[in-house]
Amino acid sequence: MFDCIIIGGGPAGLNAALVLGRAKRKVLLLDENKPRNAVTHASHGFLTRDGIKPSAFKEAAYADLRKYPNIEWAQVRVGAMTKEQGGFSVQTETKETYHARKILLATGLKDQLPDIAGIESFYGSSLFPCPFCDGWELRDRPLVVICKDERVLHLGKLIWNWSKDLVICTNGQRFLTDEQKTAFLANGIKVIEEEIAALEGEDGQLQNIRFADGQEINREGGFVAVDLQQAEAFGKALGCTYNEQGGIKTDPFGRTSVAGVYASGDTTFNGPQQLILAAAEGSKVGAGIVIDLVDEEF
Ligand SMILES: Cc1cc2nc3c(=O)[nH]c(=O)nc-3n(C[C@H](O)[C@H](O)[C@H](O)COP(=O)(O)OP(=O)(O)OC[C@H]3O[C@@H](n4cnc5c(N)ncnc54)[C@H](O)[C@@H]3O)c2cc1C
Repeated sequence: MFDCIIIGGGPAGLNAALVLGRAKRKVLLLDENKPRNAVTHASHGFLTRDGIKPSAFKEAAYADLRKYPNIEWAQVRVGAMTKEQGGFSVQTETKETYHARKILLATGLKDQLPDIAGIESFYGSSLFPCPFCDGWELRDRPLVVICKDERVLHLGKLIWNWSKDLVICTNGQRFLTDEQKTAFLANGIKVIEEEIAALEGEDGQLQNIRFADGQEINREGGFVAVDLQQAEAFGKALGCTYNEQGGIKTDPFGRTSVAGVYASGDTTFNGPQQLILAAAEGSKVGAGIVIDLVDEEF
């Protein structure tokens, strides 16, 4: 019986494992190793790790965990989990079953890209979801913002902080008012409402955007509004309450509405998503789980 099984080994799950391990707890981390940022070459904005390759970040994290013999891990996909007397049982897709007193869901989110020909080959190389992660690398270059709904009012204005050479593409959606378009134009931002036929370029480097009406524009990169979904539905299956954004609702220590089930990182979807924020949530939930275990034992 483990004190805690952590499902998901991104920064949230890894940092929780470290905190639990350092509290002498018997921990099992199960991770399929398909993180949200797998498409990127470098991660930014994490103090002391700025510009690190996602794979190097994980290697450094496991080097830290290796110091604690009470932390075990395996690269495997979890298929299901159920509540049982005294805790939970977790089944992997390779048919192993493990038991734990507490469960931490740190399975993250998945990005759903707009349905535009070629977009996958640029995502993570020259097209990104978040300017705080990749804006510096694209600063002052000819950029595009691809967004099909009202999020563009915020995103278009925000990206303008990094480059004044900006085109907004709504991909065929005509929801902007004349006033909103005039406000963009007054700040040098062009709006194109035509449908995008294809994104073109080489080796992940965006060069050209072709529209359905035949016009083309040259762009060197940009930002795209993605739709975010839970990577897994374990929270639903266990009966956890979700917030309006679709994140698992927790208290500040990562406790969900179901006793013994905790959540941290992107999966709580309660604000911006960044490695350092996920790691911080992982650290807090690790402490929360230790506090609850001690309360039960004391
Ligand atoms: C293109 C892109 C670029 C980004 N760049 C940056 C950046 O530069 N800086 C920054 O701070 N943030 C960046 N982010 C955001 C960052 O990747 C996330 O905020 C962060 O990874 C969230 O960490 P997490 O631990 O919650 O989830 P994740 O890192 O997504 O980890 C979740 C883990 O759970 C595993 N998992 C899921 N389901 C199962 C299952 N059933 N069984 C076992 N394992 C499972 C997954 O395989 C994965 O390894 C970027 C995101 C994207 C999409």
